[in-house]
Amino acid sequence: MLNELDGHTILIGLMAYPIRHSMSPTMHNHAFKKLGLNYAYLAFEVGNETLPKAIESIRALDMRGSNLSMPNKQAVIPLLDKMDPTAEMIGAVNTIVNDHGVLTGYTTDGVGFVKSLDDEGLNIRGQKMTLAGAGGAGTAIAIQAAFDGVKEMAIFNRDDEFLDNAKRNVDIINEKTSCHATLHHLEDQADFKAQLADSFIYCDSTSAGMKPQEDVTLVTDPSWFRKDLIVYDTVYAPRTTELMKVAQRGGVTHVFNGLGMMLEQGAAAFKLWTGEDMPVDYIREVLF
Ligand code: NAD
Repeated sequence: MLNELDGHTILIGLMAYPIRHSMSPTMHNHAFKKLGLNYAYLAFEVGNETLPKAIESIRALDMRGSNLSMPNKQAVIPLLDKMDPTAEMIGAVNTIVNDHGVLTGYTTDGVGFVKSLDDEGLNIRGQKMTLAGAGGAGTAIAIQAAFDGVKEMAIFNRDDEFLDNAKRNVDIINEKTSCHATLHHLEDQADFKAQLADSFIYCDSTSAGMKPQEDVTLVTDPSWFRKDLIVYDTVYAPRTTELMKVAQRGGVTHVFNGLGMMLEQGAAAFKLWTGEDMPVDYIREVLF
């Protein structure tokens, strides 16, 4: 047990299925202990069927809040009282804050992505991003990055059930932000190569590179990457994805996996619950 739990301990949950593999309980409980905060963070196996009762228990037990992951990020929305405007646009919630029985939904994945680049001294504001993917992670990244000042965004998706999401993301960004977004098809390889050529950053937010697709990378030719392009894969298991290996073969200086994003999305949620800054350098040492 990390903390001295007592009658005043404040509970925060993580509701998802499957979830036992998650690094979040270790991250948050170490941060609570480091800062001497009387909180505990526990993972609960909750799917869509048990979600309504689990959300009601946040109110009943006066928990401070919860994280959510698949399959609950969209399903939770009708069960909440309020939505943060950015989470509403993204259409997903990964963090709930309970203010005396009023539950508000937030999404911190996109905030985590931008912050992880800031941590590396890399400023994407005013720059062009090529983004592959328009699922949960891709949508959060696209909309947050556009709000945070990315100037131009080329969004690629393959012709699958997420293509409509990609269209929706492009429309929202063009309507609500000063970023100029365009929709592209991954099947058009010449266009993909051309968009990468004048981008500041390439982010792959697809499931390519992650189990069971650990051998898949959307870019196989290292010559598609300039050495000064930032190459960012949101996958963090494995730590070095096939995409990252291609970028490293091409001599790219800034190559990242999704660990920084994972850490900073957690730090943003931590701040919402506790009002405190997570000691991220310490947590980085503990986790990575
Ligand atoms: P999702 O199922 O909502 O979306 C999947 C996306 O990947 C879609 O755009 C789909 O079209 C695309 N895709 C899947 N296989 C593909 C392939 N072979 N070729 C091209 N496109 C393909 O998933 P999600 O929740 O958005 O997660 C996507 C990735 O982001 C996962 O790898 C996950 O590990 C990662 N992620 C990382 C963090 C973090 O904190 N680092 C947070 C959330 C998700």
